[in-house]
Amino acid sequence: MKTQLGKTYLPLINGEYVETAEKVDSLNPSNYSQVVGKVGLINIEQAEIAMQSAKEAFKTWGKTTAKQRADIIRKAGDIIEQRRAELSAWIVLEVGKPVREADAEVSEAIDFCRYYAAEMERLDKGYNYDVAGENNRYIYQPRGIAVVISPWNFPFAIATGMTVAALVTGNCTLLKPAETSAVIAAKITEVLVEAGIPKGVFQYVPGKGSVVGSYLVNHPDTHVIAFTGSQEVGCKIYADAAVLKPGQKHMKRVIAEMGGKNGIIIDESADLDQAVVGVVQSAFGYSGQKCSACSRVIVVESVYDSFIKRFVEATKSLNIGEAELPQTQVGPVIDDKSQSRIREYIEKGKAEAEVALEMSAPVNGYFIGPVIFTNVPADGIIAQQEIFGPVVAVIKAKDFQEALQVANGTNYALTGGLYSRTPSHIEQAQAEFEVGNLYINRTITGAIVSRQPFGGFKLSGVGSKAGGPDYLLQFLEPRTITENIQRQGFAPIEGAE
Ligand code: NAD
Repeated sequence: MKTQLGKTYLPLINGEYVETAEKVDSLNPSNYSQVVGKVGLINIEQAEIAMQSAKEAFKTWGKTTAKQRADIIRKAGDIIEQRRAELSAWIVLEVGKPVREADAEVSEAIDFCRYYAAEMERLDKGYNYDVAGENNRYIYQPRGIAVVISPWNFPFAIATGMTVAALVTGNCTLLKPAETSAVIAAKITEVLVEAGIPKGVFQYVPGKGSVVGSYLVNHPDTHVIAFTGSQEVGCKIYADAAVLKPGQKHMKRVIAEMGGKNGIIIDESADLDQAVVGVVQSAFGYSGQKCSACSRVIVVESVYDSFIKRFVEATKSLNIGEAELPQTQVGPVIDDKSQSRIREYIEKGKAEAEVALEMSAPVNGYFIGPVIFTNVPADGIIAQQEIFGPVVAVIKAKDFQEALQVANGTNYALTGGLYSRTPSHIEQAQAEFEVGNLYINRTITGAIVSRQPFGGFKLSGVGSKAGGPDYLLQFLEPRTITENIQRQGFAPIEGAE
């Protein structure tokens, strides 16, 4: 794909790729002298045109059958499968994700297309509750216009998942991707156009979050906002969407998947061979930039020293380098802003805990070597705030009960893990570990659509799990139709011939 670096990608509005006054360079985080693509950013006037086109297109899209829509989305899944290697390459180049994980992300996008297509066909059957003389039918209809606001860290899978969920349920959809991953979103656009999505039904509207994103969130014609990103932005969107705008005749539905501060507990009965490998992978995969990544390890006192020794040694063996190299296990972080924010956290960590490992990293990209802090206080900054980088806080607990208390002691509830061979601990964790996705004796990242529907609660988000049986319901309006069929037969309209 390197022969195609530096091309220009334009927004898709009402079925046409349109010129923009402003363009930004999307850089390769592994080597920031490389421009992956130039992306045209829309302005407010173009956002308004896109909204009006979506409204127009909804008049017909909202009336298509579930089967017609599911067929288009399934076709999109097939096209992604055919373009799998190429799409993985764009992920590697634009967001610095190592090859193996980029490939898994493409798989996840295919799964979303196929799963949501099947789910829509299931929901389309509705429910009947007929009694003598009365038919009752429970059905779903689309809500209207969906605005999808996606993050850069799963630039392909999350943007595809939220978009196809909105489309397959019959909503016209505007996709506003994160600025640092807008080329990949342009690839999603190519796929949907090739799959036959009608004009105006899907539109690709790259732009600044605080300008275009905010305009679309606040627009009176928006019905659903599907957002994945930081807690700060998610909370703002939630508040903005709650305000009724002049001319607005409905309440907006907000789905907001936000951050986490995910912990893994290691108790005295854990198999450390398994735990060490699992923590390394969960913490440093994609440089700790997965929302599900482990950033706290809570270790019971009796195994604390031996765990740390082995964890540090195992981490030292990781290969750090350009994401495109096959041997790379830890690539760069997304951009310079993120790099300096993580460095600030490392400094804060040094003031409140001990450094057990700080690895060096290449300098020509936005790299940060893995850092392990030990003896971190449970209420410390690096034990409480989402850092979104390869930085891990190890916390010592007296026993399993205290470990569970520490694990639950944050504002988030996204993912969590337990390494244990004690049935009573496993049982207690299942009941009391406050996370949306709990993993026992395995890594805590890499949820698979349908098998492990994904999403959290507390300040990790509002809404039902992505890739799960309740997800599509959020994009639909349920209706009940009751008909008295006990009557008297049918009669011609009075006055008609
Ligand atoms: P971000 O919140 O900075 O940006 C997300 C999106 O919101 C981008 O498209 C951005 O342009 C847009 N945006 C910014 N300001 C806006 C505004 N005022 N109005 C409307 N839109 C606006 O997040 P990010 O840095 O792209 O992603 C990383 C974050 O995402 C982390 O916190 C991570 O935990 C979270 N995340 C959560 C999940 C999950 O499923 N829970 C999955 C992936 C990422």
